[in-house]
Amino acid sequence: MCECKKAPVAGGTTIRAEGNERRGGLNAALRQSIARETNGVNGAGEAFARCRESVSAEEAARMYGIHIDHRGKARCPFHDDHRPSMSFHAGRFRCWSCGVSGNCIDLTMKLLGVDAMGAVRRLDADFHLGLPLDRPLSREERDQADRRRQLNDTRQRFEEWREKMLRDLNTAYRIGHQALLSGHDLSDREALAVRWMDALEAWADALDSKEMSEQMKVFRDREEVERLCQMILRNTPMKSGAT
Ligand SMILES: [Zn+2]
Repeated sequence: MCECKKAPVAGGTTIRAEGNERRGGLNAALRQSIARETNGVNGAGEAFARCRESVSAEEAARMYGIHIDHRGKARCPFHDDHRPSMSFHAGRFRCWSCGVSGNCIDLTMKLLGVDAMGAVRRLDADFHLGLPLDRPLSREERDQADRRRQLNDTRQRFEEWREKMLRDLNTAYRIGHQALLSGHDLSDREALAVRWMDALEAWADALDSKEMSEQMKVFRDREEVERLCQMILRNTPMKSGAT
């Protein structure tokens, strides 16, 4: 997976990473005090992240007395709901009537009338999560938190790369498609697009697939795919609708 780090990176992420490295230049006392401060923050952040990942909104709903029917739906407790309008998916809840949605922490806050920290404390106690709420993170937990942050960063950069690549592939394909329809003599760039239309379509399909293994096939060949797209797209005037 660490290959993903080579994906084109949005400016913000790079700048943040550089900032972290520069911290190595600070004097020891200052570094320690920053470590103490951020450790407290990271401890709470880590507790919230682990809470969200450990308990689904559905589990929290059941824990706090919401009846979920055989179709996995519930009567929404946040509006006068006569038919079950609340559904649960991928760890989150959503009411299709009044529009409330969120994760286990949001649901617990609203159900029990507590703030976010109060909700995390209740979930920690009721689901025996052992979250690092009132103690500094252990070394192992800090490493785990670091890995989680890196993974999230990597995922986000991959997603940004995937979306841009998909746009470029679609535009390149359209150039070939329109050139074929036009019937005029093809420019070099259009001829290239026409020649590669099948491949452009296959790559776009793979990137659009829900299967990570399909997306990774394109990612592995990204240098060639990007080069080809750039050759086709360069000097392309912006056309309306060509997004
Ligand atoms: Zn509702």
